[in-house]
Amino acid sequence: MAATRLFARNTEVGTGRVRRVLPNRARRNIGAWVFLDHFGPTQLPAKDGGVGPHPHVGIQTATWLFEGEMHHGDSLGNQQVIEPGQLNLMTAGTGVAHWELTKADGPRTSHGVQLWIALPEFERQGKPGFAHHGELPDIELGGWTGKVFIGEFAGKASPAKVYSPLVGVELVGDEPVTLDLDPDWEYGILVDTGTIQIGTEKYFTGHTAFIPTGTGKVELTPQNKCRLMLIGGAPFDERPLLWWNFVARTHEEIVEALTNWKERKGYGDDSTWPGTALEAPELRGKLIPR
Ligand code: MN
Repeated sequence: MAATRLFARNTEVGTGRVRRVLPNRARRNIGAWVFLDHFGPTQLPAKDGGVGPHPHVGIQTATWLFEGEMHHGDSLGNQQVIEPGQLNLMTAGTGVAHWELTKADGPRTSHGVQLWIALPEFERQGKPGFAHHGELPDIELGGWTGKVFIGEFAGKASPAKVYSPLVGVELVGDEPVTLDLDPDWEYGILVDTGTIQIGTEKYFTGHTAFIPTGTGKVELTPQNKCRLMLIGGAPFDERPLLWWNFVARTHEEIVEALTNWKERKGYGDDSTWPGTALEAPELRGKLIPR
């Protein structure tokens, strides 16, 4: 089965521009990966560059950097610097607010991906939590190197806890390589750097190939040195409803999440939060699950 191209759209998040790969008109999710923003490389403002305090419900957020550093803080009281090759994985459950900001005296380069993982029904109203994984397994594969940050790939497993069958890997290399895939899963390959040929198509920086279920192998032919993000998972058979930073199942749940955020119900004391908290947009009309 041939790969198809997913077209990202440009939008703004916090102080930076991003390329939003998921959700997308052609594709809402890849396994339980329901959101993928690709950003940078770009320079953020010296102070409070990044994204100010904002809430999430119903998902895990995964932050992965290629360059720079970000300072994560959240309404649970966690503070964590993240560097390239490390994973910040926040489990929102019923609601948590976080911010990811640069420091005035820190690196201002912003370059990485922001991913969301829909939580399955049995877990989505669970307790919020945050985990930082500073050390993740390295892999070598046909002249390529990589890091497995979610799930298992090429015989190595990430210690990160997720709630559905998923994989997330960063891969760097310049030689033709064949990746073994699980034919029961669907995958996306995002090109961060370089140009890669998959099938008859070339994918340039910022492009993403979608690989549907039924594919056991994919051959990658780089035209130069490439850095890729491979994400994949078993098809997610629930129907996540995304609105702003919330992922739920029904309109009523989104309204409740919005009200809770406006009233800061369940978010603790916001007086110590840095920067400016994000205001939700107006909710117009009734949201309908797909
Ligand atoms: Mn966020």
